[in-house]
Amino acid sequence: MSEPMNTYQTDNIFAKILRGEIACEKVFEDKDTIAFMDIMPQSEGHLLVVPKQASLGLLDAEQVVIGPLFTTVQKLAKAAKIAFYADGITIMQFNGASAGQTVFHLHVHIIPRYDNVPLRAHGTGTEKATTIKLNAEKIKNVLNEMAE
Ligand code: AMP
Repeated sequence: MSEPMNTYQTDNIFAKILRGEIACEKVFEDKDTIAFMDIMPQSEGHLLVVPKQASLGLLDAEQVVIGPLFTTVQKLAKAAKIAFYADGITIMQFNGASAGQTVFHLHVHIIPRYDNVPLRAHGTGTEKATTIKLNAEKIKNVLNEMAE
């Protein structure tokens, strides 16, 4: 996907998800953020956290977006570690096509990791919808337990 001339485009896929025009396997939402499963996971349970406020990436985001975004990232990273019995969690965030960004609305990747297991390639290999749904349920169950 080409980089849209450094201006935010409202037809990007995450903007469509935020507007409810495209479905996603949502696991969490609050007033500032939404989290859903990545359809091309680099590891079992790979999910994305997206701020509702529009920006291309981290560099042009308003400072007020950052705190709530990473509060959700931390919450979901903890839940994913438990839900998928992960040894560790990789947090990734790309800015610009040269850096590997393919969707130009700020988002943070949360990727469960296992000892000696390499990441799958970025943005390749769409996961089965049933697996994505099952993984979303696992995270939601842990979030519910964390809230109790
Ligand atoms: P990035 O390359 O950092 O911009 O990441 C974009 C991510 O969005 C990739 O990991 C894709 O697998 C993922 N992705 C693309 N389309 C969708 C979608 N409709 N629902 C969920 N994840 C998506």
